[in-house]
Amino acid sequence: MALLQRSADAGRLLLDLVTRDPAFVRGGDLDPVDIPVFTFHSLEPRSFERKLAYLRDAGYQALGLPTYLDALFGRRAAPAKSVLLTIDDGRATTWTVGYPLLKRFGMRATAFLVTSAVHDDDAVSKTVGDVPESEWAPLVSRDESADRPFITWGEARAMREVIDLGSHTHLHARVAISHETEGVLTETMRRGYGEFDCPFVWIDGRAVRGRELPLGTPLPVSAPRLSARPAWRAAEGRFETDAEIQEAMRFDLGEARRLLKQKAEVDATSVCYPWHVDSPLARQLSAEVGYTTGFAGKAPAPPAISRPGSDPFAIARVGEDYVERLPGPDRRTLLSVLRQKLRRH
Ligand SMILES: [Zn+2]
Repeated sequence: MALLQRSADAGRLLLDLVTRDPAFVRGGDLDPVDIPVFTFHSLEPRSFERKLAYLRDAGYQALGLPTYLDALFGRRAAPAKSVLLTIDDGRATTWTVGYPLLKRFGMRATAFLVTSAVHDDDAVSKTVGDVPESEWAPLVSRDESADRPFITWGEARAMREVIDLGSHTHLHARVAISHETEGVLTETMRRGYGEFDCPFVWIDGRAVRGRELPLGTPLPVSAPRLSARPAWRAAEGRFETDAEIQEAMRFDLGEARRLLKQKAEVDATSVCYPWHVDSPLARQLSAEVGYTTGFAGKAPAPPAISRPGSDPFAIARVGEDYVERLPGPDRRTLLSVLRQKLRRH
């Protein structure tokens, strides 16, 4: 099974590499007008530091989100060799690892927060920049902790010094799309990011997921909320109506904007679609609630890097593994990047 999974992963990696990843990943140049957007999740200090050092030594600069958007909308061109670093979910290491390292390197990043997951607390924890390496362990593993796997609103406000904030929706929700089940609730689905992979289940008229459900609960076949697929309401034995889908999606998109404004004083104009899944309705509602841009995954068709004139609600991104494939004197070999990617699966 593991071997099959590995070969399936390897196959998909290679197909993407040839058909969907930007040319620089395969060893090509970077067009001076192109600004690659990289996707990060949990940050590990040595790996993140190495990537920032690579960017610095090869002469790249990591832009702030407003500067990137100026370039995307053709208002003002960015310098050649610019990149945008994006960090999804608002996991704790965005603060404990990302903030101090970005500050040290004089670079910026953009964090897309799941506003329901941000801890409602002004507390600001120490970072790996505050303590000796011997005391890093709890800060680096905080993403997996039961206590504070995400950032606090206090940390969100403090990180704005080097990290711009956007929305990753309020709930990062999956919904049941069938009466059939697939798999059961596991321990990892009750903690940190893992809860997002657990679909909402209706119990006593309330939608619950993750730690609110007993281990072993059978889980329905599900899909990301922004896919616009109708949720199956098991208790009522029916699917959602179009109006109910719209209402739920509008809430998920709009509530994130409202909380970012209220808790972090940010007018968030960018949304990042959970699991990189969106739909025409998701884009329409995003625009209606006030977003001007939507960040996705790999582009379904060329160009692999969004440019001025590209659809602002389908900004293409590439995985962090390929930062060191950008043209530069110490460019990492593709083979070594792929080996590392596969090892992680
Ligand atoms: Zn996410």
